[in-house]
Amino acid sequence: MQVYINGKIVPSQEAVVSVFDHGFLYGDGIYETMLVYDGVIFKLDEHLQRLYRSASLTGLTIPLDTDLLKIALYDTLLANALKDAYVRLTVSRGHGPIGLDPELCSQPTIVIMAQKSKDYPPTFYEKGIHIIIAETRRNLKEAIDPRIKSLNFLNNILAKIEAIRVNAYEAIMLNARNRLSEGTVSNIFFLKDDILCTPSVACGILDGITRGIAIDLAVREDLGVLEGEFTKEDIYAATEVFITNTSLEVMPVSKVDSTIYPVGKVTKRLHSAYKQEVGSYVARVRAEGPSLWGQER
Ligand code: PMP
Repeated sequence: MQVYINGKIVPSQEAVVSVFDHGFLYGDGIYETMLVYDGVIFKLDEHLQRLYRSASLTGLTIPLDTDLLKIALYDTLLANALKDAYVRLTVSRGHGPIGLDPELCSQPTIVIMAQKSKDYPPTFYEKGIHIIIAETRRNLKEAIDPRIKSLNFLNNILAKIEAIRVNAYEAIMLNARNRLSEGTVSNIFFLKDDILCTPSVACGILDGITRGIAIDLAVREDLGVLEGEFTKEDIYAATEVFITNTSLEVMPVSKVDSTIYPVGKVTKRLHSAYKQEVGSYVARVRAEGPSLWGQER
């Protein structure tokens, strides 16, 4: 694998970060993960906007503008000869003496890694996955706002460990007010009384790019959508459940704790609408040119 690090693309074994990097020492940094379909990074502008928002909420100045970041992303894909890929862009505070003061670090560390995108087993989409409601609560948004997509992932990892213990794929966390928030790496949706429900951003969640698309698609499909505050009992009483994120897209859920759900019509409709959205986005970007990818640049 070829890795982009601070302006250079090098073999992975040479892509090393200082032990004094504040990303390593304190989880002080931010990131985005994106999916690449047929050479096009899906919703790149939205991901970069969110990256700059995370940067601004943490007082981190990214030394590259969006055009330079786009070039770096596509150059990394090209160096790895990847057209269908998962790409992660990490920006840490950089290296500096021990201590919390961000001013100790003069230059952020920028890393881009790309690998072939994961193929989830088709049975996941056909049958749905098992998830749990975790005991671990989501970070208070007044403490670490989940809208910051930060490197500080221990909250999510603790919930993930609970899921792994019972062989579940994902863990949904409640917030401090016992309302549903989000999964360790995903947003949650469920259908109740024919209304598509999802926790609002005010519940303390990351406003997932896929979540936003799923809401838009549902509205376009004339479904009622409710972003609000929900309890785990609401989900147990639902008729369909699914989770969303960049890699999983729209993933049906067959079991939450011990409640079973079918892979329902709405989930299937939104899953195929999402695939269509990806297809038309990729076609549009390719048609717009001049493109940033490959030798065409
Ligand atoms: N919540 C959390 C905590 C996440 O890590 C992710 C994955 N980035 C999501 C939600 C889903 O976001 P997206 O749809 O932008 O991938």
